[in-house]
Amino acid sequence: MSTPAILDIFRSSGALLEGHFKLTSGLHSNTYFQCAKVLQYPEHLMEICRNITSAFSDLDIDTVISPAVGGIVVGTEVGRQVGVKTIFAERKNGEMVLRRGFTVSPGEKVLVVEDVITTGGSVAEVIEIITEAGAEVVGVGSVVDRSNGTVKLVETQFSMLTLEVKNYDPDNCPLCDQNIPLDSPGSRTLQTS
Ligand code: ZN
Repeated sequence: MSTPAILDIFRSSGALLEGHFKLTSGLHSNTYFQCAKVLQYPEHLMEICRNITSAFSDLDIDTVISPAVGGIVVGTEVGRQVGVKTIFAERKNGEMVLRRGFTVSPGEKVLVVEDVITTGGSVAEVIEIITEAGAEVVGVGSVVDRSNGTVKLVETQFSMLTLEVKNYDPDNCPLCDQNIPLDSPGSRTLQTS
């Protein structure tokens, strides 16, 4: 999929808005982004995951794993397309762990799938769980890389879309300086995460 085609489905589903936004953090931004808004539509979910799946089609994959909550929808669809066991890790008392009887075994080849990589913290914790179990991380796939390519977690890493998001302190915001009306899409249309 070409970048304009990807951007088009993000924009048309309202997952990606460009302008002048007040984020839930209080910062101002030129971009409002909510990945779940595009993934709620099965045709977009399937197509996005087909891109991720085909990026790793040369690899032997035994298992797909995702960090909860954001990664689960994408991980599950990628796992279904590859046709392998699919599990997720989640936080308990602040620590990323496997629960619900999920395990990884020594030698198992594991693909990590996430929706949005911002700092890569959750994915890094999932990688640690896998390597500590003696299993092998064969790659990391994500829908969006918000780090603009600066977060490098493993050798084989694929992101469908790389976004450069600019956030500003409200007291020092060039968009405010240009008198561009401020929008708060999170409070108006949906709950942001
Ligand atoms: Zn502003």
